[in-house]
Amino acid sequence: MADRYCVFGNPIGHSKSPAIHALFAQQTGEDIVYEARLAPTDSFAASVREFVVAGGRGANVTVPFKEEAFRLCDAHSDRATLAGAVNTLSFVDGRILGDNTDGAGLVRDLVFNLKTPLSARRILLLGAGGAARGATGTMLEREPAALVIANRTAAKAEDLALHFADLGPVSGCGFADLIGESFDVVVNATSASLGGEVPPLPEGVFSPDAMAYDMMYGKGDTAFLAHARQLGVDRLADGLGMLVEQAAEAFFVWRGVRPDTAPVLDALRRA
Ligand code: NDP
Repeated sequence: MADRYCVFGNPIGHSKSPAIHALFAQQTGEDIVYEARLAPTDSFAASVREFVVAGGRGANVTVPFKEEAFRLCDAHSDRATLAGAVNTLSFVDGRILGDNTDGAGLVRDLVFNLKTPLSARRILLLGAGGAARGATGTMLEREPAALVIANRTAAKAEDLALHFADLGPVSGCGFADLIGESFDVVVNATSASLGGEVPPLPEGVFSPDAMAYDMMYGKGDTAFLAHARQLGVDRLADGLGMLVEQAAEAFFVWRGVRPDTAPVLDALRRA
């Protein structure tokens, strides 16, 4: 019998994770099945327990359950503890272990796939929600010259920066405070692109050779990437690579085998 995994979310119909993990399984020869499971917003914990009883070995967790997943776990990896959120559950000997592979996925996509080093660079992270929280610690591990977190609600960016202050040169502010500053890497971790909006960035935030990265992905440029392109930025990437890389990291956590992500990313882009 194949080992069972799934992704919990609400909504979940759009999830690409089953397709990604099916390709990983095919490539590595690991005998797993992976499905998308809709969890009612008021009974995430019950949905997880039901899956464990049915023989589930692990699960990914997406919007809106990552923080609830953190609270459900009996033990956490260091990176999950730092993020205060869990996107990868492992069910081992009756215990639920929580990890967070989002930050690792983002950094791997930037550094390895997109050849964009973070070390000694000035990085701007837009947004202070769950995705920004997951990314901050992992980006600071690369030892940037500065990591500035800017958010619509400035106080949330300041709090987030304070939370990670021991790990490196990180500060938080509002968008208007960015006047006169420029960055080598600008990562959009707001959900503004979902509504076709772009955070109100002052002119000049993109340095001449900057990388503009949107965690969101879809057909064609997201609103943020279209805006950056209009400003003359030509190094642009959406979050599909991050999605595949965080999945590969979860697959490694569960199976101890690291899939080759390039052909999987190619297949998704072609689809
Ligand atoms: P949250 O709801 O936790 O946070 C949303 C953030 O966006 C907040 O900082 C919020 O600011 C900001 N925001 C929302 N609307 C606007 C707007 N119109 N203008 C400016 N700022 C805005 O979401 P997540 O952090 O979970 O997700 C953020 C994005 O990252 C989503 O697009 C999601 O799809 C993507 N993502 C991609 C992943 C991948 O693998 N590629 C993985 C995880 C997330 P405020 O605090 O002021 O409300």
